[in-house]
Amino acid sequence: MLNLYDTHTRTLRPFEPLVAGRVGIYVCGATVQAPPHVGHIRSGLSFDILRRWLMASNFDVTYIRNVTDIDDKIIHNASHEDVPYWVVAMRNERAFTWAYDVLGCLPPTYEPRATGHIPEMVALMQRLIDIGYAYEVDGTVWFSVRSWKSYGSLSGQRLDDIMPSADAATLGKRDLHDFALWKAAKTDEPYWDTPWGPGRPGWHIECSAMATKYLGAEFDIHGGGIDLVFPHHENEIAQSCSAGDAYARYWLHNAWVTTAGEKMSKSLGNSLLVTEVVKRVRPIELRYYLGAVHYRSMLEFSYEALEESAVGFRRVEAFLVRAAEAAGRQLAMGVRSEVFDASMNDDLGVPGAIASMHDTVRAGNAALAVGDNTVAVTAAESVIAMLDVLGLNPYASHWSTSAAADDSRDKALGVLVAGALQARTDARARKDFAAADAVRDQLVEAGIVIEDTPAGPRWTVG
Ligand SMILES: [Zn+2]
Repeated sequence: MLNLYDTHTRTLRPFEPLVAGRVGIYVCGATVQAPPHVGHIRSGLSFDILRRWLMASNFDVTYIRNVTDIDDKIIHNASHEDVPYWVVAMRNERAFTWAYDVLGCLPPTYEPRATGHIPEMVALMQRLIDIGYAYEVDGTVWFSVRSWKSYGSLSGQRLDDIMPSADAATLGKRDLHDFALWKAAKTDEPYWDTPWGPGRPGWHIECSAMATKYLGAEFDIHGGGIDLVFPHHENEIAQSCSAGDAYARYWLHNAWVTTAGEKMSKSLGNSLLVTEVVKRVRPIELRYYLGAVHYRSMLEFSYEALEESAVGFRRVEAFLVRAAEAAGRQLAMGVRSEVFDASMNDDLGVPGAIASMHDTVRAGNAALAVGDNTVAVTAAESVIAMLDVLGLNPYASHWSTSAAADDSRDKALGVLVAGALQARTDARARKDFAAADAVRDQLVEAGIVIEDTPAGPRWTVG
């Protein structure tokens, strides 16, 4: 039975889906103002592990991760470059897609963009205005926070303890805590037409509109980074629940990546961009490093720890290579340890799950040392099954460049070429030169370069 820590109730709760066998997840995706550093990618990776565990637990998962493709910083960056906002948004959306993909995150079932959902936002705002939870002033639509009595329930704050933003008094709202659902157009800014005039969406209304469009008025899990609890998710709940939608049943939040104890930020420069970090370690090693920490624990990033962690992962791969040699065949998917499954069911306890995987590697290595190949191969196949759930199975097609996969492919190629060269030698021995040449031509066509040496034919991939 899976238990998940629900930020809203501040308790571990048994996960019970709305519809048996199915799970709908909405994760707040990137605001595409700049390319991602490793801190940006942790949320997508944490919820990819949740999704994979739910799939391994036989759930049919619908996974929605949005793209916020309009906001102040996107507009600001675009005006600096003197290009439309969507040039900046699309360039960075591609950078995020690349980073998610390079780290082996499964593509979302659907990935809605905020600007593609203006009619849904207008409809939701109209509902809120009609029932008195929202009001319009000079083309800006405000949410009336005091009229929603449970405001603050997610973040555990009382409204009177929340400081309004510094510019709150100047904007014509009825209460300093009210937040914008829709922002009236400013000069030279992109806008969309609405019943209240031209403008652009506030961030919070985007997610309420997109989550319910794809997952329904009530859905299972809403996820995001811990920094989104307030105000973003608090405001999503206020908008959607006051409109009468039951909204998310579980709220899950991943912790930050920190450097020197601080939340990773752009001011740290480019060295932590995903594009840069994967020059230092292989992507599968970066995924192992980022995924191995419990999703609710802060991850203190350092290259030293990353490289140490990569060495640990290579030890696992080396065991798999040796076990495959001992098996004399390709390893199959085995059975995960009970400790692994129990850890994952305990609020995605990846650290415990990985510890159990390493225990299995140690047992397998000990078995290899005493020549007990059967035990070693069973252990290796169990390790593969555990890695697979974490998106770290080096034999999975996604990781075709990882060491274990390379190794097994090279071995397969070596066996095939050796067989062909033996056939050529045999053909020559019986003076069937046409057959010998045919073998040679076939190898050359496949890009294999053959060199006849006194010690026999040598080959390389040309
Ligand atoms: Zn969101």
